[in-house]
Amino acid sequence: MHEVDIAIIGAGVVGLAIAAQVASEDREVYVLEKNETFGLETSGRQSGVIHAGIYYPQGSLKATTCVDGNRMLYQLCRTYGIGHRRLGKLIVAATDEETGELQSLLERGERNGIVDLAILSKRDLKELEPNVEGVAAILSPSSGIIDSHALMRHFVARLQEEGARIAYRTEVVGIEKAADGYKVTVEDSTGRFTFVTRIVINCAGLQCDRVAELAGMDIVEAGYKLHYCKGDYFSVSSTKSKLVSRLIYPVPPPKLTGVGIHATLDIEGRMKLGPSVQYVDSIDYAVDTQHKQLFYDSVRIFLPFIEYDDLEPEMAGIRPKIQKPGEDVKDFVITDETDKGLPGFINLIGIESPGLTASPAIAEYVGSLVEDLLGK
Ligand SMILES: Cc1cc2nc3c(=O)[nH]c(=O)nc-3n(C[C@H](O)[C@H](O)[C@H](O)COP(=O)(O)OP(=O)(O)OC[C@H]3O[C@@H](n4cnc5c(N)ncnc54)[C@H](O)[C@@H]3O)c2cc1C
Repeated sequence: MHEVDIAIIGAGVVGLAIAAQVASEDREVYVLEKNETFGLETSGRQSGVIHAGIYYPQGSLKATTCVDGNRMLYQLCRTYGIGHRRLGKLIVAATDEETGELQSLLERGERNGIVDLAILSKRDLKELEPNVEGVAAILSPSSGIIDSHALMRHFVARLQEEGARIAYRTEVVGIEKAADGYKVTVEDSTGRFTFVTRIVINCAGLQCDRVAELAGMDIVEAGYKLHYCKGDYFSVSSTKSKLVSRLIYPVPPPKLTGVGIHATLDIEGRMKLGPSVQYVDSIDYAVDTQHKQLFYDSVRIFLPFIEYDDLEPEMAGIRPKIQKPGEDVKDFVITDETDKGLPGFINLIGIESPGLTASPAIAEYVGSLVEDLLGK
């Protein structure tokens, strides 16, 4: 039976970043992807924001990998010419009560290691963004946007340079513990094929819980069962897109199911609003046009120049959450499952936002788990 060193399940931004990190000439590394190319699921359906790491609980993997990933992404963008803009971001308080929240958000961000946050008065805010309405704001200069597809192309080029390969249209359908690793069964257009790998890295995004189940894990007991949470986006007419020059966010809702419907700009300067937050039972990317009023009501408070007719449905993405509706925010799970009887099986579960920003730091973290395992 064919033997490889590392099998990575999923060619989203996280699987690709990890493959680029762990690939080397003396290792056989495969990325297995069920779709015809990379980045067709969550990694291709998100806001493209390079987050600073303000929101997440201190010491959590979300906080540490986001803060590190922010720095690493800008470095990668500069070195390899990946499209990005360090626009900066404003979190805008609409009322005096929300102003109090700004102070605690700023302190949380500072505890997470962000050094450049500042609170702006109403006047400072008007000076920076004359078309934004609010009583105060946090300015986060290190937030920005990235061409996420170009980032993924970069990781693909790096992993291929190091000799790793990607098998597209190849779905992992079975994982069985073997003497020194795992028997992985894949299905492609020619049928089924089984090979042996020393290490499995599960980066299957919206299917990561099912992949963990394939390996025999009890996902309910482990707390890995996913709850899909959809986010719709609406685009804003191009004339209005030019009326702000930064990313504009409201104060986030409690429990952080999302960070509030906000305005982002893409690399071409087009504005989109979103994502909304709606737990769903299945994967369906159709935008619910009935949400238009909700979008309008959410943003007109701080972006009063937006009119109802400026909004057009754009796209939707789905968050792979382990946080059930009403529960407190949950951290990323990134772990080698030796303790659960599966040594060399590395799970990445619940990699929702800020997974794009965090991707290079997650890759470094998983890389160190791999070195520990292969060094044993
Ligand atoms: C609405 C929304 C907005 C977001 N905005 C931001 C943002 O602005 N900034 C930010 O930092 N993060 C953001 N995120 C988070 C970020 O997009 C994700 O964390 C990241 O894209 C996850 O990447 P991934 O590689 O883990 O998953 P995915 O991109 O979903 O990739 C998983 C891959 O695994 C494959 N796969 C699954 N099962 C199998 C199998 N059995 N066999 C083979 N292949 C399989 C899938 O086909 C898929 O290609 C956002 C997320 C959402 C939903």
